[in-house]
Amino acid sequence: MDKQTSRNLWRITAGQRLRYASAIAVTGLASAFMLSVPLVGGYVLDVVDTQDLAQGAALLVEAANTLAVEIGGKPYVAYLVLSAVAGVGLTALGATCQYLQGRWAAIASEALARRLRETMYERMQHLPASFFDEADTGDLVQRCSSDVETVRVFLSSQVVQIGRSILLLSVLTPILFARDARLASLALVLMPFIIAGAYYFFAKVREQFKITDESEGALTARLQENLTGIRVVRAFARQAYEVEHFGSKSLALRDNRERLNRLSGAYWAVSDFLCTAQVCIVLIAGGMFLAAGSLSVGELFAFMMQVTMVIWPVRHLGQVLNESGKAMVSLGRINHVLLAEEESRDPAPATERVRGELVLENVTVEYEPDRPVLKDLSVHIPAGETVGIVGPPGAGKSTLIRLLARLYEPQHGRILIDGLDLLEVDRHWLRRQLGIVMQDPFLYSRTVADNLRVARADVNDTEMMAAAREAAVHDAIVGFPAGYRSRVGERGVTLSGGQRQRLALARALLVEPPILVLDDALSAVDTGTEGQIMAALERRRGRHTTIIIAHRLSSVRGADRILVLEQGRLIQEGTHATLAATSGPYRRLCEIQGALDEAIERDLKETSNAV
Ligand code: ATP
Repeated sequence: MDKQTSRNLWRITAGQRLRYASAIAVTGLASAFMLSVPLVGGYVLDVVDTQDLAQGAALLVEAANTLAVEIGGKPYVAYLVLSAVAGVGLTALGATCQYLQGRWAAIASEALARRLRETMYERMQHLPASFFDEADTGDLVQRCSSDVETVRVFLSSQVVQIGRSILLLSVLTPILFARDARLASLALVLMPFIIAGAYYFFAKVREQFKITDESEGALTARLQENLTGIRVVRAFARQAYEVEHFGSKSLALRDNRERLNRLSGAYWAVSDFLCTAQVCIVLIAGGMFLAAGSLSVGELFAFMMQVTMVIWPVRHLGQVLNESGKAMVSLGRINHVLLAEEESRDPAPATERVRGELVLENVTVEYEPDRPVLKDLSVHIPAGETVGIVGPPGAGKSTLIRLLARLYEPQHGRILIDGLDLLEVDRHWLRRQLGIVMQDPFLYSRTVADNLRVARADVNDTEMMAAAREAAVHDAIVGFPAGYRSRVGERGVTLSGGQRQRLALARALLVEPPILVLDDALSAVDTGTEGQIMAALERRRGRHTTIIIAHRLSSVRGADRILVLEQGRLIQEGTHATLAATSGPYRRLCEIQGALDEAIERDLKETSNAV
């Protein structure tokens, strides 16, 4: 276990350590009670064998004599009865302790698993966007579910079992030596081999489990990706390809599990052999000592029972270590999330609502080293202005918005909102100033109203409907069977792409953000509806700063200013009229779109004539 893992394990057990210590202590007590039973049995055997009460346990002999006097029976019979009662009593006490151990360990481990899950979930809410760029969602799900479960199982039973084995060995070894040093040495002669074997196995299993767990993570990720993109898979008739790929990942998982099982099988076979050999050594040597008269039948019986009681937990150490190996791997995977650097937490400015002025000063940003996506970009957007941004795919338009929301930070330059440097303000505060509508918005699998309330929990029906009207989606919603109470399928699948975009726009409008951003958010909306939305935004002009990113020029034509980006650089800026009148990329874009629109119109006319 590396230092980081053990430190983390120690940290997560905070608040439950006393319960764990009690569980281990009570296991020690259980073992003590259980180990006393063979002693009682051994004394009984000696008394029966010699017919001499003096060979019995002193305490029980004294009690038997008193009892015999009181009830007028034979001390020999009273001794046998008392021994039976003592044996049953000790076993019952041992069982009670076992029960308490199981219960306390379960309560503690469930509490810890809950804490782990919640801490991970909470942590993920504050991890930077770059963390999720590199992570597979399915793999993260596995870290929060089955990896936490592996750690829970480890904490609920393995920790206690390890404690029990250590206690048993350290308490019983001196007792065995005190009783008969010769037999004790022989009883433990194979123990180092059993422990060394278990340790070797532990190292091997840990390695193999890591590989197995990773292949399980890859399988879950594949499954999650497939289910999320099931429509794309069908649209491109990729089912056979997907099934084949899933099959290869599934096969890899099976092979890795098989290797793990082979390792386990080999360990159990070897350790079975060593444990049985160890018991045989004690039996043969004990038999010889018995024949030589240096050991009684009872002593041999007690010795045999106690050695067996110690040897099996030690043998199980292999299994325990196996499980521990898995838990360490899972803990490492959990650590990957828990130790990932969170987004910094900065103070929220005193102003609750900004005016909406944005300044970008020589901003350069790169996702990968030496591959800048925005290069030395400087822009000033006064509060209340409507700005259109156009440019070819990959020009860096969405990156600009991600910078505004501080999902990523520029490597050079700075961005100011009402004069405040974005890098110095609280992200939550910042995101409250922005209403961003994406091209492919995320909707919860809840009702339409619930999805709108995500923006503002206290919104009333009138406000909700007003926003939906502005976003030209109200008529569509009231057309659904349950209106605003209609449930939106997972990721909004029961809605068309355009309806989803309009619902997301309504959600953003409800917040009345000082800065409204439409990132290609009307791409799936027909031109008629787009016109309605643009007219609604026109009525709002001046109420907030508006940034419209679009491929369709009709969305930005009415903007106060249009910025043309290409390969991360601002290459043109001006109103539609000035840019359209100047030769350059924007004019070319107008010509291409004009030609396209004409062609579409011609096609439509021809089709309607044919009909
Ligand atoms: P589109 O019009 O197609 O939406 P865009 O102008 O919005 O394109 P961006 O999404 O800003 O373009 O992407 C700009 C460049 O940055 C692209 O080359 C893209 O591949 C790259 N890029 C975007 N996001 C990431 C990321 N998370 N990690 C690495 N590269 C990225």
